[in-house]
Amino acid sequence: MSLFVASLNSGSNGNCYYIASHSEAILVDAGISCRETDRRLRRLGLTMQNVKAIFITHEHSDHIYGLPSINKKYRIPVYISTKTLLKAQLKGIEAYNFKPYEPIKVGDLTVRAFPVPHDAHDPHNFIVSNKAVNVGVFTDIGNITEHVIHNFEQCHAAFLESNYDIQLLDAGSYPIALKNRIRDGFGHLSNLQAAKLFVDHRPTYMSHLFLSHLSRNNNSTDIVRNLFNSLTRGTEIVVASRYKETKLYSINASGSGKKEPYRGIVAPVQLDLF
Ligand SMILES: [Zn+2]
Ligand SMILES: [Zn+2]
Repeated sequence: MSLFVASLNSGSNGNCYYIASHSEAILVDAGISCRETDRRLRRLGLTMQNVKAIFITHEHSDHIYGLPSINKKYRIPVYISTKTLLKAQLKGIEAYNFKPYEPIKVGDLTVRAFPVPHDAHDPHNFIVSNKAVNVGVFTDIGNITEHVIHNFEQCHAAFLESNYDIQLLDAGSYPIALKNRIRDGFGHLSNLQAAKLFVDHRPTYMSHLFLSHLSRNNNSTDIVRNLFNSLTRGTEIVVASRYKETKLYSINASGSGKKEPYRGIVAPVQLDLF
């Protein structure tokens, strides 16, 4: 059985990833408005009706901005660590705590959190599974840790942060304190760190790598494409956009990239009204 995945937006202006089986879906992070989340799902033929839970990595606004408006409209359970919840000062949401590596069942999906180093209160990333297929979200990570490696090695598909080009960051106009914050081990992964993780720890069955959370000022799609296109070894490389959704990708257990059609609830057809 496949998992179906899409990035709805990826970057410091908002992060939201859709991961689904045929019967359930979850969002990892809710960093764009409810209206925009709805609109992008609709363009993919999807609907929030399928989304049974939202998992929050950490309290930075590019990961929670849309949560109040989504909560107001849909009242979806939110899995968020207690420390993150307190720091984020989110009120009125149906919040559930999680512990690292403790499986959380959402229908036929199982989600496990693992800790990551990042300049937030209690940052985590997630790996989502339907028994046969594992999809990981690896963003806002200052450094590659054993937790990151252990989870990445199990993924049929991964959203992997490739935040900045070292030279562009170095030569850029950011104040030195901000440059250091990005690269000091509790900020973000550089393109080279992401590439090294991919080369050293990619499982043979990884069919898709979604390069994520690209910096607007210190990176470009061309730079990451040039770097990763020489390293693919059969994995399809997708650059997740800061401005729009990706396609909906079908991820299967063989890692062959063979497409299974999505049979979940689809968005009602919108008729143009004149
Ligand atoms: Zn972020
Ligand atoms: Zn962050």
